[in-house]
Amino acid sequence: MQVLEDHPLKALHTFGCEARARLFAEARTLDELRAGLALGRERGLPVVLLGGGSNVLFQADLEALVLKVALDGLELAGEEGGQALVRAAAGVGWDALVEECLRRGLFGLENLSGIPGTAGAAPVQNIGAYGVELSESLHAIEALDRESGELRRLTARECRFGYRDSIFKRELLDRLVLCAVTLRLSRAPVPRLEYAALRDELQARGLARPAPREVREAVLAVRARKLPDPIELGNAGSFFQNPVVSAEAFAALRVAEPGAPGHPGPDGRVKLSAAWLVERCGFRGARRGDAGVHHAQALVLVNHGRASGRELLALGDEIRAAVLARLGVRLELEPRVY
Ligand SMILES: Cc1cc2nc3c(=O)[nH]c(=O)nc-3n(C[C@H](O)[C@H](O)[C@H](O)COP(=O)(O)OP(=O)(O)OC[C@H]3O[C@@H](n4cnc5c(N)ncnc54)[C@H](O)[C@@H]3O)c2cc1C
Repeated sequence: MQVLEDHPLKALHTFGCEARARLFAEARTLDELRAGLALGRERGLPVVLLGGGSNVLFQADLEALVLKVALDGLELAGEEGGQALVRAAAGVGWDALVEECLRRGLFGLENLSGIPGTAGAAPVQNIGAYGVELSESLHAIEALDRESGELRRLTARECRFGYRDSIFKRELLDRLVLCAVTLRLSRAPVPRLEYAALRDELQARGLARPAPREVREAVLAVRARKLPDPIELGNAGSFFQNPVVSAEAFAALRVAEPGAPGHPGPDGRVKLSAAWLVERCGFRGARRGDAGVHHAQALVLVNHGRASGRELLALGDEIRAAVLARLGVRLELEPRVY
């Protein structure tokens, strides 16, 4: 495994900010992963794991070994309860995985089409889109314990998934390297069409009973319209999570802001729209130097060219302070900041 010193990270994350890593290496096998972790220990450097870099923000140069997890391989791993088990190594591109499953006639991931990044990072924030979350299809994960060096297997239940949340962001933060995910997929189409923007798109296409591939195409089309392509405009998708508040807090917000949207969950708590809150505070299309808020999607912070991670973070802080002061709601960041 090649280890590079003082390596630029600009091309390795979708925000495209200038930052350098003290050391960088790409692990394609389990042995290389172990060697990378050992090298970090030897050199007294923390090891920062990287997949596709689509959910990170580097605010400065990293005095760390950045280890890109690039394990490859996709296989049918069996059947359970009439469903197919598909195992993907951590470095497999998420959208390539969705496409390949569809090609093999295995369904359940269509709504998650077009999400950038790797299979290995997908469980970290329990990726979700268009009314579906990864947790609904995830069967188990395999991971390398960074302390003991042992391989561990966690069932979906043990991953303690929540909205953009998992055990990997909490109790097991920075403890495991996810090496593979196993998904449980259906051989019969299981259309999930309750999300309004998706329904509207399908309706506009005249598809009352869409096939899974048509759902994928509709999702990709909506995403292409709503989200900036990181190749053209640096971004990490949603910069803020949708806040989940108590019913009382939502009622109070509604008194001040009768138009505030909210989706009650089964536990009685209400999911707010972070995009609406940001927009309400006047930040859609805002710009501070090259750090900006996307003109069409207030949830997405963008790098117009030479914004640094610090500048993007400062804009994020300004927005959070304004939303808290004006609307009394605390926003949390979605990307991991290093
Ligand atoms: C345009 C755009 C649209 C997006 N849309 C969505 C969306 O609709 N829904 C959604 O949920 N997300 C979305 N995202 C966010 C992002 O794509 C996902 O969070 C994705 O899962 C990140 O994968 P990655 O491989 O790029 O992770 P990275 O950004 O490389 O890493 C993210 C975090 O996971 C850790 N990590 C990475 N790999 C591993 C591993 N193998 N083991 C342990 N930890 C690891 C990293 O250390 C880091 O803390 C979007 C991003 C962009 C740029």
